[in-house]
Amino acid sequence: MRETTTGNNKYLKELNKAAILDLIRTTRGISRKALADRTGLSPTATGAIVRELLGAQFIREVGEGKSSGGRKPVMLEINPDSYYSFGFDIDMRFIYTVVLDITGKVHYEEKWENHSSLTPEQAVDRIGRIYDTVVSSLKIKKDRILGVGVSIPGMLDITTRRIFLAPNLGWSNVDIRESLSQRLDAPVYLDNEARCSAFCENWLGICKGVEDFVCINIESGIGAGVFVRGKIYRGYTGSAGEVGHISVDENGPRCKCGNVGCLETMASINAMAERYREMASKTNPDVSGNTIDQNFEALLAGALDGNRACLEILKEAAVSLGKAIGYLINAFNPQTIVIGKKFPRYAKLVIDDIAESAAKTALAHLAENCSIVPSSFGENSSALGAAIIPIRKLFGK
Ligand SMILES: [Zn+2]
Repeated sequence: MRETTTGNNKYLKELNKAAILDLIRTTRGISRKALADRTGLSPTATGAIVRELLGAQFIREVGEGKSSGGRKPVMLEINPDSYYSFGFDIDMRFIYTVVLDITGKVHYEEKWENHSSLTPEQAVDRIGRIYDTVVSSLKIKKDRILGVGVSIPGMLDITTRRIFLAPNLGWSNVDIRESLSQRLDAPVYLDNEARCSAFCENWLGICKGVEDFVCINIESGIGAGVFVRGKIYRGYTGSAGEVGHISVDENGPRCKCGNVGCLETMASINAMAERYREMASKTNPDVSGNTIDQNFEALLAGALDGNRACLEILKEAAVSLGKAIGYLINAFNPQTIVIGKKFPRYAKLVIDDIAESAAKTALAHLAENCSIVPSSFGENSSALGAAIIPIRKLFGK
């Protein structure tokens, strides 16, 4: 009995601690009295938790707040440069690495190129070496590292956190969390790349304070992270958000999933680069030897330069994307749809086409109440979001 009670008390105390920390974070400066008032905890209980948080340097005392008479209260705020979180985004061609402190400030950001695609073992080894290098160059003490988030371009099993399938990496049914956690000697959290970007938008970006939104990533494939009532929506087996496989054209090309006309075959970077290659190789056969990235960059440069044919390729993709977005608006009634990764680079050319196309498939009332916007982040959003996972946990999210 006693053990259970102690367990419950400890659990409640942790909850209260996280709630107080989160209030200090969201208010950006609050007094002990206001904390007690807002949480409903007694001044004694609040004082004890604040003392503990000050002792561990999660928070610090600053200046003085407004007084309603008498001595001005001391304000509390999150202590920057005290605890850190690492984020890694594993891609076929690179490992994006970021380090944040608990205020969300970026202390390190680097894209580490891979010469060839990595096996799971090679990825663990490479992340381990990057981690050691960054920890020593930033001179971070190990006990000040909250944890490590890892973004994976694939599907994860919701219960075991094993990577079920990451087609671009060529991985299936692997567990890197355990070996990575041992190698780094830190808690490791894995999540899907689009979901990591959604964490990033919700914590640092345009969807701060937005409870219902969809974050769509335009990359070699297309995925989405969905927030419902302030929480990530994972679905029954953990694979919600595979919006790249919404069929938008029953006469469209065959997708690698087996269906036809999937959004990914119409509006992904690979699809647009391929359209460009088909078009440009008619007059310049050299284009056929280009990589997907080179073709996409050429397409983008052409469109930004006002080339009509290039612009048309982007606009056609945008119409397909808008159609799928309309379906998502009907299904989720989001306040915001934020589109990220490579999209912000060409957003201004097509954002109106997307809204117009979405309005054709979405119900008018729902479309009118949803804004479709480009992300303010680029390709680093998944690494940032991965680093936010351990930070969210600290604040009880
Ligand atoms: Zn498909």
